[in-house]
Amino acid sequence: MVMFFALKLKDLFEKQRDYPWQKPDNCPCCNSHRLWGHGFAEAIFDGYDKPLLLKLYRCPDCGCVIRLRPKGYFKRFQASVETIRSSIIFKSTKNRWLSGISRTRQGHWFRALNKRITAYLTQAWSGGAIAGFDYLLQIGQTPVSRFI
Ligand SMILES: [Zn+2]
Repeated sequence: MVMFFALKLKDLFEKQRDYPWQKPDNCPCCNSHRLWGHGFAEAIFDGYDKPLLLKLYRCPDCGCVIRLRPKGYFKRFQASVETIRSSIIFKSTKNRWLSGISRTRQGHWFRALNKRITAYLTQAWSGGAIAGFDYLLQIGQTPVSRFI
């Protein structure tokens, strides 16, 4: 179970294990108010040359493990939602890739988005890639995830 929290990656990078995580009020699985610290998980983010440590909590009542992730990032993605969206806009409107990020990655995002638009919004979708991205985001999906 992943919960998204507003947190500053730069602070997290500097403070590591001393970052002042705010413990969730209750377990997202069973609503229990008891949550125990459960160590850290490493995660890679663009712009940082070392993995950052994301806090884990465990609910002793239902066994659910909760991983806190920064808001503004999709699960399993190193680039921010904003960066990925910019890349999609750039490709759709100028047919070019953003500089500073590998074309391979941007190509993966773009292809995954188009596949997902076809899968979820059907062939008849005429809103284009950017509207498709925003729509999928709005319904709680990761628009560029390769897992359909
Ligand atoms: Zn629980």
